[in-house]
Amino acid sequence: MTVKKAIHYNVIQNILRYYECPDTCKAYCCKNGRVHMLEDEFRFLTEKDQEKAKNIISDSNIPHLYMMNTPCSFLNMIDRCDIYDKRPTVCGLYPFKVNNSGVSLGLQPCPLGFLIIRDFSSWIMDTISRSNIPEDEKAGKIKEWQNNLDSYETELSEFHIKPILKEMQIPFDELDILSMFLFSKNALKNIPLCTPTL
Ligand code: SF4
Ligand code: SF4
Repeated sequence: MTVKKAIHYNVIQNILRYYECPDTCKAYCCKNGRVHMLEDEFRFLTEKDQEKAKNIISDSNIPHLYMMNTPCSFLNMIDRCDIYDKRPTVCGLYPFKVNNSGVSLGLQPCPLGFLIIRDFSSWIMDTISRSNIPEDEKAGKIKEWQNNLDSYETELSEFHIKPILKEMQIPFDELDILSMFLFSKNALKNIPLCTPTL
């Protein structure tokens, strides 16, 4: 199984196509983030630009894994990625992040990530409100999700200088459903797809 298949990369692309990075975010993920890459991606970037690739170091903790020192040397003067179509897998996935569970992905509450968290939470709360569970249980679950959403909104403030962000963990099967939900919602509204910013 390829890495991209294992992490449901295509599903994430289908989700991200409905979102756009706000202009207020100056590519903080490329300036402050942890940009890991696999050996073949490291080799590709070295062939692409040997000078810029000097900013990539070997991750001493994990064999065959590399890390870009940030700010990334492939970020251009207007905060756009110079290798967008060939960017490393972690860049194409962000603000989703791989974790060790093998059954879910993390979602970080950067400005773009929070928009997805908000839509995902609204969808879950809507599903709960239409379910057949007792009304008091329903109200309790919705309140819990609302409180959770509020906590991610708090996390969003100054997110780019926080060493660790509280991530929402979303199981792969729920990501599949979210992707289908966004597709049907936007098809109904006839909204054109976005071109991601970075
Ligand atoms: S993915 Fe998030 S951190 Fe990166 S540019 Fe977009 S909004 Fe900013
Ligand atoms: S998206 Fe491009 S500029 Fe940003 S970290 Fe990845 S390779 Fe660098």
